[in-house]
Amino acid sequence: MRNNLKYLLEEKFNFILNNNQLKDIARLFHEIIQRDEISDENIIRQLEKNDNIGNSKGKDKFQAIKRKLITLRFPLTSSRGKINSRDVYLNELKPPLRLPDFLKKDFVPEKIFIEMSAKNSYLLKRFNAQFPDTPQEELNHLWEYAQKHRFKLEDLKRPLVFIAQENWDFIKRCPCTKDHLGCNYWIFNLGFGCPYDCSYCFLQQYSNFPGIVLPANLDDFFEKFDSFFKKINRPIRIGTGEFCDSLALDDITGYSKQLVDFFRDKPVFFELKTKSANISNLLSLKGAPNIIISWSLNPQELIDSQEFGTAGLIERLQAAKQVRKNGYSLAFHFDPVIYSKDWEKSYKQVIKQLYKCLEPGFKWISIGTLRGTRKLKSASELRFEGKNIFYGELLLGSDKKLRYPKFLRKEVYTNMLKWIRSHDTKTPVYLCMEDTDCWQIMDKKLTSAKQIENYLLANNTFTSI
Ligand code: SF4
Repeated sequence: MRNNLKYLLEEKFNFILNNNQLKDIARLFHEIIQRDEISDENIIRQLEKNDNIGNSKGKDKFQAIKRKLITLRFPLTSSRGKINSRDVYLNELKPPLRLPDFLKKDFVPEKIFIEMSAKNSYLLKRFNAQFPDTPQEELNHLWEYAQKHRFKLEDLKRPLVFIAQENWDFIKRCPCTKDHLGCNYWIFNLGFGCPYDCSYCFLQQYSNFPGIVLPANLDDFFEKFDSFFKKINRPIRIGTGEFCDSLALDDITGYSKQLVDFFRDKPVFFELKTKSANISNLLSLKGAPNIIISWSLNPQELIDSQEFGTAGLIERLQAAKQVRKNGYSLAFHFDPVIYSKDWEKSYKQVIKQLYKCLEPGFKWISIGTLRGTRKLKSASELRFEGKNIFYGELLLGSDKKLRYPKFLRKEVYTNMLKWIRSHDTKTPVYLCMEDTDCWQIMDKKLTSAKQIENYLLANNTFTSI
């Protein structure tokens, strides 16, 4: 595309493009073409109509072309004022990776690696019972694998399982993001890696390890939690699901049974966050109101095109209905909301489906719009060719993450809250990774992480500690 484009532009506009200029122009053309499904000739015709381009020369001509392409690339933001080109992330165009198709309906490991210290673990016994023919290899430590095998992005989803003895990262505070309001959430760090493949998943840029790491020493987690909780000595919200899906492999690991039994009497809200319908272990136990099973929700067409391997919307809602009947509490996450021409219709419909299936009164609902680092955009487009969601109206924010401009985010939050409130006045609704200004359009105008935490904890059933 680059050479052809260079030739076309130089001929039409009578100037010479250098390599850096061509890199920016080719990127803008690529994203406009992919998103709007138009041809490069169509874009050139629009450039030809622009007098600024016709009247300028040399470097100014390049700047005029780039400015016009930025307005075509970000039409909604441009209609409200000039975009600072520093906020536009133009990464180099690279050919997409050829990815093996690792996603299968049922997860089957290709190989199981076991740290020597986890050799006698219950987790290995469970894998042995379910996958007796899968090859295995013992490692002194996980990093032995990393030293022998240089990580390639192509291998991110290779179905390798690493059964490990976690030694340090047991519980940590959710880092949220710079200049935005957190909610004092705690992460129970049980596992790293996920059998699903979402096009927006931050693990694509964060992970330098293939497959899925599963800790075998749950007892150590529980011990660490007890000493952590003794120090903190107040109700908190804590959950797994930051670096994995909490339930995707639960039929194999059986983690949920131990977690529910451990947390059911603790004065905390313990959350298992999922896009699966893998609830058989949860149904085999009596639930508890402080154990919250939560689902991320998106319109079915986005589940089909962006959340590969996950359960469908109706399956998720039906699973929620069943665990609620069993005594668990529910929560939902509209995160990420992906903005498009038809976003209103699709998300309004999802909210309607949610309340058609379930009576209102959830522990919480969060809303967050699509966001990610520059590295995530590059990784996602290498892995997901074509009409990538990062070709939406995403600009760099103060935390150097790509996100929709504030007026679009506010439009999303205002409408989502209105649609939720038309069915449900009880459930606390909060924003994930947003700033104080966006919080001002919510029904609770909160300005600190502590206030948000109190809002979400208020609806509790704990005995005082
Ligand atoms: S379910 Fe969550 S952890 Fe798994 S791929 Fe999707 S976003 Fe990533």
